[in-house]
Amino acid sequence: MKRREIEKQVARAVWSQPITDLHTHCYAPRFGASPQPGGMLLWGIDELVTYHYLIAEVYRVVPASELPYETFWAMSKREQADHIWKHLFVERTPLSEACRGVLTTLQMLGLDPNERKLDKLRKWFHKQDPDKYATKVMQVASVDSITMTNPVFDDHERAMWERDAAVGDDPRFTAVLRIDPLLRDWPSACAKLTAWGFEARPDFSGDTTAQVRRFLEHWLDKMKAAYLAMSLPPEFRYPDPANPAGDRFIRDCLMPVLAARKLPWAMMIGSRMRDKVNPALRDAGDMVGKSDVMSVVNLCRDFPANKFMVTMLARENQHELCVATRKFGNLLLFGCWWFLNNPSLIEEITRMRVELLGTSFVPQHSDARVLDQLVYKWEHSRRIIAKVLTDKYAELGESGYDVSAKQIKRDAALLLRDNYREFIKR
Ligand SMILES: [Zn+2]
Repeated sequence: MKRREIEKQVARAVWSQPITDLHTHCYAPRFGASPQPGGMLLWGIDELVTYHYLIAEVYRVVPASELPYETFWAMSKREQADHIWKHLFVERTPLSEACRGVLTTLQMLGLDPNERKLDKLRKWFHKQDPDKYATKVMQVASVDSITMTNPVFDDHERAMWERDAAVGDDPRFTAVLRIDPLLRDWPSACAKLTAWGFEARPDFSGDTTAQVRRFLEHWLDKMKAAYLAMSLPPEFRYPDPANPAGDRFIRDCLMPVLAARKLPWAMMIGSRMRDKVNPALRDAGDMVGKSDVMSVVNLCRDFPANKFMVTMLARENQHELCVATRKFGNLLLFGCWWFLNNPSLIEEITRMRVELLGTSFVPQHSDARVLDQLVYKWEHSRRIIAKVLTDKYAELGESGYDVSAKQIKRDAALLLRDNYREFIKR
């Protein structure tokens, strides 16, 4: 096949393949939708423009000395959006990836990204019904399934599941149990479990191990979770001599429960929390730190009956993590997370992964917090994945190997949907 034909076939395969998005922060409409108070499904122009990436960016242009953080947080969502739109989209050229993302989304929804005021756009979004709109966005983004992130230690969300677990019953969405405090703050997590009827003691005395296992099983089942997830700091280590309770929780509680249910543990490692960086920026205040790949290696080796999904935030970790992935069939490498979700880095990382892993990884997840972001996150990533694949098939051609359209279609399906689906089923 000639390069031009390869390019055409790859574009056809990558754009027609529906994506199973394995990590987002989007919620099914039953959890309530913005702007309704407490609505957990965020969508629409004001949410898009006040995405925390853009809050960080507007504070580069209008610093806290001119607009104190407290003043910004006291503004209505609409006022915040107007402020960001004015400074990042009208008075400056919206070149950053987060800015461009809003524009791609508007364009693909059939709206004009050149509006100088948000009001006209607001009118269009105001006419949408959130439930129907979710289906529309999935069609435009060509996403067949959205994976939620469901933190059970969040009081508002836990109450919703406890009121009626059917809140999670939406064929478009899949739940994921997130339990960060069990590793990040074991003593307070134990106190909470005890208050919820699972008597857990920080020193593991009494029936703690069984109670913590019962807690995990209860919530995995209630949510019908596809996997269990944690976001971990750069300092995460396994084993960790400084945190023997954490080691014990992993070894005696987490690993046996997940192995019995054949569910993966997804670890997103390397986010330095805002309390150590800039707490006043809230969600926008986190940054990146280098993590320890050998801890992932130790887990994959010591728990061969368990499955692990891993992504790391630091560019500096990507090569070592990719090499580690070669060594373990129970490890699924996924995504270009957060500060890596930029075209130049996605391209570099995806190219390296294909060279080291062939098609046996998941190139991207959207991490969308606002439903509409699915549109641009996947449009931008698909473009890069297609570019990398085209180059790689052309190189095979130079080695005398003739790739077929059927193979290209199969590879696109593996990368965008089936590697993940098969891994969680395995
Ligand atoms: Zn996330």
